[in-house]
Amino acid sequence: NQPLAVADSDVHESIVAELRRQQSTLEMIASENFAPLAVMQAQGSVLTNKYAEGYPGRRYYGGCEHVDVIEQLAIDRVKTLFGSGFANVQPHSGAQANAAAMFALLQPGDTILGLSLAHGGHLTHGMKINFSGRLYDVVPYEVSKEDMLVDMAEVERLALQHRPKVIIAGWSAYARQLDFAEFRRIADLVDAYLMVDMAHFAGLVAAGLHPNPVPHAHVVTTTTHKTLGGPRGGVILTNDPAIAKKVNSSVFPGQQGGPLEHVIAAKAVAFKLAAEPDFRERQQRTLRGATIIAERLLADDVAAAGVSVVSGGTDVHLVLVDLRDSDLDGQQGEDRLHSIGITVNRNAVPFDPRPPMVSSGLRIGTPALATRGFGDDEFAEVAEIIATALKADFDEEIQHLLRKRVAALADRFPLYPDLDSLYPD
Ligand code: PLP
Repeated sequence: NQPLAVADSDVHESIVAELRRQQSTLEMIASENFAPLAVMQAQGSVLTNKYAEGYPGRRYYGGCEHVDVIEQLAIDRVKTLFGSGFANVQPHSGAQANAAAMFALLQPGDTILGLSLAHGGHLTHGMKINFSGRLYDVVPYEVSKEDMLVDMAEVERLALQHRPKVIIAGWSAYARQLDFAEFRRIADLVDAYLMVDMAHFAGLVAAGLHPNPVPHAHVVTTTTHKTLGGPRGGVILTNDPAIAKKVNSSVFPGQQGGPLEHVIAAKAVAFKLAAEPDFRERQQRTLRGATIIAERLLADDVAAAGVSVVSGGTDVHLVLVDLRDSDLDGQQGEDRLHSIGITVNRNAVPFDPRPPMVSSGLRIGTPALATRGFGDDEFAEVAEIIATALKADFDEEIQHLLRKRVAALADRFPLYPDLDSLYPD
């Protein structure tokens, strides 16, 4: 039982290098966050050794008395957090939560209506080579060209025309709130189930800063590692007892074998922390940060470089930068920000003329920096740095100066200082 540094110096060194990368750069990938030490401690625990197929009190293995307590805590806490009557906390990821939810509601060949990937939807909402596109008949809806918002009249028209069995509301790259009540009205109109995938904005919902889809949807899925700030994983919620039963059997034994009880323990910790006042305050800073960045990127000096913001702003934790009119494409924008120490991802924007691997957009998120402690002043400085980097006169001298400003911000907000002794260089 040697420590990692001795047992496997290769993996140890890469973990140390990744820790240093996270500490010294500014993480602005909208789907990422920094899990608290308590979450990582639960995840890196002896619970990884335990088989526990089944559910608390109904397991197919002996010795489950402690994992039963832990899984029940996770279930009870997430139900309270989102006001749902039922929760399954076993999905290994967001994609598996969606697969299991659809497995519970659909038969292969049934029709689903989901936001097109090219317009901000997720792979699991019907992308051609994803399980969702292969198993189900997919009808995509899009945003409208005028305001770049989900076009509810179009959703209704497509629903009436195609009579989907499930309508999916949710997104990976969209900066506005969806109208869940309107989605439910349309679902009821055609006798469809409404499934909301709140993976991105679950933390905002938990903090009461975003409408809660649970009262409107037949089933809600989420990840636990984005705005929610927990371990990587998924959850399924519903208020309908008949759907709950189907969800449980579609997760296990339908999709998965043994649950990851170490991750479920980490989820339980994250749900506890998400109910605390600190969490709400952090989500408020997250939202303000995104607004500050959007406003800066809408200013005239940036517009002169052909840079804009999709839908003209944000209501959530991310900004979708529109580079369609810029000489800079998404790949170049991502590389430019990477060169000064800011990590984002390029992203297709609706009606993108460039191919997806290049794209004409950047998705910029604030959750990780808010977790790091950033407030309005720091987000204003980050916004200024990004705006300067995306302008046409960017050169090596500007790059050097911006990199120094990024490093200074990172230094002022130390990340995981307690880990330095565990992972010495
Ligand atoms: N749903 C949405 C809306 C997402 O954005 C994502 C991930 O980006 C997922 C589901 C999938 O989550 P995971 O990566 O944990 O499978």
